[in-house]
Amino acid sequence: MALAAAPRPVVLVSRSRGTTGTASAMAQGGIAAAVGPGDDAVFHAADTLVAGACHNHVGAVLDLAQAAPEAVQWLGSLGVQFDRAGDGQLSLGREGGHDRARIVHAGGDATGHAVMQVLAAAAANAPHVHWLAGKTLQAIGLAADGRVAGVRVCDVAGRSAQLAAADLVLATGGIGALFSATTNPEGADGSGLALALAAGAEGRDLEFIQWHPTAFASPSGRHLPLVTEALRGAGARLVDEQGVPLMQGTHPLADLAPRDVVARRLWRHRRAGGQAWLDARRLDEAAWRQFPSVLSLCAQHGIDPRSDRIPVTPAVHFHMGGVAVDPKGESSLAGLHAVGEVACSGVHGANRLASNSLLEGLVCGRLLGARLRSQGKRAAPVLRWVDAGPDADGESRERLAMHLTAALGPLRSGESLAAAMAAITADPAMAGRWQGRLALALLAPAMARKRSLGAHYRVDSASAGNIRQGIETPAYGETA
Ligand SMILES: Cc1cc2nc3c(=O)[nH]c(=O)nc-3n(C[C@H](O)[C@H](O)[C@H](O)COP(=O)(O)OP(=O)(O)OC[C@H]3O[C@@H](n4cnc5c(N)ncnc54)[C@H](O)[C@@H]3O)c2cc1C
Repeated sequence: MALAAAPRPVVLVSRSRGTTGTASAMAQGGIAAAVGPGDDAVFHAADTLVAGACHNHVGAVLDLAQAAPEAVQWLGSLGVQFDRAGDGQLSLGREGGHDRARIVHAGGDATGHAVMQVLAAAAANAPHVHWLAGKTLQAIGLAADGRVAGVRVCDVAGRSAQLAAADLVLATGGIGALFSATTNPEGADGSGLALALAAGAEGRDLEFIQWHPTAFASPSGRHLPLVTEALRGAGARLVDEQGVPLMQGTHPLADLAPRDVVARRLWRHRRAGGQAWLDARRLDEAAWRQFPSVLSLCAQHGIDPRSDRIPVTPAVHFHMGGVAVDPKGESSLAGLHAVGEVACSGVHGANRLASNSLLEGLVCGRLLGARLRSQGKRAAPVLRWVDAGPDADGESRERLAMHLTAALGPLRSGESLAAAMAAITADPAMAGRWQGRLALALLAPAMARKRSLGAHYRVDSASAGNIRQGIETPAYGETA
């Protein structure tokens, strides 16, 4: 976004210098784009709609799929070295929900790092970008007419500063850090979303949270490393402790079924006391060269995935919901824009298709930047400051994470949602803090949505009335 807004001056506020602590830099699989022989944006769009349980904004999906090849080309022109086959063509990976190999990648499974290094360097060298690192967005200033007029940021020492701004673009990422198990970094705490809601922006689809089926099942900590789905695309299989395939008979795409289907299967298996493993031992040396990050992760835990199975567990991965934005990236609050995971443009529907989110950030960010370039508004004086409220203490955050994980997991019920809402509401150490308010904002629409849809799966809803993807049916193990 910042690059596309040139020459309009942009102040880039970030918690860290460079790309440390962003989910973007952690992206492993890559970027979905219909660039392979015989592929077409329409097929990419169709897969996006099926994964999203057709809850998507169809126009936004088509626009995204059509813009993907050019976005990849643009990154290449900036210097991102995408992996190529011997014949010089882009090498394509396959992930769950895609009907074919369609994922461009760089450095094997280090795509996010490769892309973000190039974008960060371009932003650091851009004369119109003033990069304020080490700062957290704390409050939004509103003018007399209710429009955004400024922001207040603070550093780690608690020193705050105010900046005038007629336009604020939120790109604060996801909410995984609110849960007990997540692939997200610590900074994905939902603070940007909480602030936008507190300032009066509308949220959309907040109940849709994607669980990734294969986080590395590490016994300690809530931030679990991801074991990329591309490994299953290359032939790895999910198995139980006896080596029995877990996805066989569950969905026609088996291990490459949409993420929510796989996550539910593993969640049930683990809740019944089982362990889940990813068996990638059949991959040959050439295939393993595509997965240096997985090899290094496993080595850190004393595992060689060429001869050992990898322990995996579902973990919160992506928030489909967020600040409601129109196709131009505008929220309901004048002057507030949002892009990336904090935004909900409707492109992901009820369940994101793998490798569509880096793409969304790129495509929507560039469009938004280009639009803001030509809108040089002056900031009005700030009439009032809005923040999200006080921070919860560590112990209350732990309790909150436990309630959210129990209620907003891959399987949900009215009973568990009501229990979580009651527990949070009754405890001022949670309900009176911004994390608690955000938690209630996620739980309420999940409670209100009685039927299953995409990643929102209600075990207590009448299965006959449920909207399901593809040909997944209760007969394939989808009953509670
Ligand atoms: C392990 C992993 C692998 C993934 N793999 C892929 C993949 O292969 N392909 C794909 O398309 N998607 C992938 N995703 C999803 C994708 O990476 C993210 O959805 C996307 O990168 C989000 O980008 P973003 O810019 O919205 O957020 P981020 O890249 O997370 O950046 C948000 C930044 O805002 C900061 N921030 C938050 N709140 C504040 C605040 N109040 N003040 C200041 N700063 C704040 C955060 O600390 C962070 O630095 C993956 C995600 C993870 C976690």
